[in-house]
Amino acid sequence: MSRGLQTIAPSKVNVCLLLGPTRADGRHELVTVFQALDLADDVHLLETLDVRDDEVVCDPPVEGENLALRAIRAFRAATGWNGPPVRVTITKRIPVAGGMAGGSSDAAATLRLLATHAAPHLGRTGRTVPDADDLRAIAATLGADVPALVEPGRWLGTAAGERVERLPLLPDGRTAYVVVTSPTGLSTPDVFREADRLGLPRSSSQLALGGRDVRARAGDLPRVLCVNELEPAALSLRPDLRDTLAALRAAGAEVAMVSGSGPTCVGLYDNPGRARQAAPVLAERFGAEHVRLAGALPREQVAALELPRVAGA
Ligand code: ATP
Repeated sequence: MSRGLQTIAPSKVNVCLLLGPTRADGRHELVTVFQALDLADDVHLLETLDVRDDEVVCDPPVEGENLALRAIRAFRAATGWNGPPVRVTITKRIPVAGGMAGGSSDAAATLRLLATHAAPHLGRTGRTVPDADDLRAIAATLGADVPALVEPGRWLGTAAGERVERLPLLPDGRTAYVVVTSPTGLSTPDVFREADRLGLPRSSSQLALGGRDVRARAGDLPRVLCVNELEPAALSLRPDLRDTLAALRAAGAEVAMVSGSGPTCVGLYDNPGRARQAAPVLAERFGAEHVRLAGALPREQVAALELPRVAGA
């Protein structure tokens, strides 16, 4: 029998990203605030006997091995689930290689769908049905920003971003985001390498100090803490992004920043009306296909994407 499940995979922006030293595993330590946006991919999972192996199809296609396929393999390995193959179909809306965690969110959404899909089989065979924390542990093996997207919302990320704590959501509509994508991507590892070359990372003690400040004020982050310490590295590799940031500011953004490792830039607007006015102005300059008006993922959708709590947990 085939049955389908679907969900959305929201993008994220790092409204704050403090950069720390490199760990033994080669990843950098961070303190970051992940904010999920309503700009999202659609993810559909179907059990199928038409294929011999699990399969992920993206529309439009993306290059290389899909992170959602790695998520299926990691889920099977971690839970012992050995049900029939699944086909995951992803309708891409999040800019690819744009620093908005499109692949990571698709992988996290796939884990969410698999948890529901596999639960009856796992239960029948006496295996543990993974809860949200179990899924975040699997997610951490796929990438440092995947755990924060298992239940998209607003999260504080520490370690390399994979240790996450839920933050209170801001009221719906509190901030509007104008997202300006770039016709060419920027490799995340290249940006971290450039940050090292420029000597940007803080020491552990400086990161801890900054982290204390962010943690205390992460609920409604003051504008001075809306910083991305990877930004100088992204700008060093892509000086043209300075113009994008300047254009966002000129169009009224209170804060304009590179999103994560870039090259997507994002403007934060306290006044949604102003953001609505800014979007067409920026579209004129950068092309309508590169400018999106977004909001934080609304509370109702955040709640709808939460996984069932285990009684007594
Ligand atoms: P992050 O912010 O997590 O570093 P990103 O948003 O910059 O990532 P992605 O859109 O996740 O970048 O894509 C990075 C690369 O990952 C792409 O160039 C593509 O080859 C590969 N990839 C694998 N799976 C996916 C997917 N489901 N969607 C997009 N890209 C994917």
